[in-house]
Amino acid sequence: MTEATAKQPALPVTQAERKLAKAVERANQAFTEKNLRFTKLRQDVFEEIAATHASIGAYDILAKLAEKGTRLAPISVYRAIDALLEAGVIHRLESKNAFFACRRMDHRTGRRPIFLSCENCNAVQEVDSEGIFDTIDRLARDASFQPRVKFVEVSGLCRNCQSKKD
Ligand SMILES: [Zn+2]
Ligand SMILES: [Zn+2]
Repeated sequence: MTEATAKQPALPVTQAERKLAKAVERANQAFTEKNLRFTKLRQDVFEEIAATHASIGAYDILAKLAEKGTRLAPISVYRAIDALLEAGVIHRLESKNAFFACRRMDHRTGRRPIFLSCENCNAVQEVDSEGIFDTIDRLARDASFQPRVKFVEVSGLCRNCQSKKD
């Protein structure tokens, strides 16, 4: 539980806390829709991932939770991550073996995302373009290859990092 979801709405909350509370609410909804349980552990892990605004590895999640007094076995965190992936509320960046919160929530219906991953600050954006996946599927099939592309990762520099480097 964050302050933002506590029982005292009069408490001043920062915009970041409000955003996080919204993300948690959406995640909770996604779990309910799939008849999965959004347990305390899953919520704790999700909050760490959603709070970073970038991608984060499982061991960093463990470390952050430990700082807050929640000591967990790595396997518990991995299981929570698996559940979050299954519910579609987080994604995995294959190239970094790191996770980030889905901020779109509109492609759970089967649309496949393109992940734009910043090499400098680890921020991740998602964009959609079924056309790219159609092209990959077609080219792969032309090469007698059975494609199983769920997403495409593109690494580079985000807007913030581009302006810093100018
Ligand atoms: Zn997403
Ligand atoms: Zn960046």
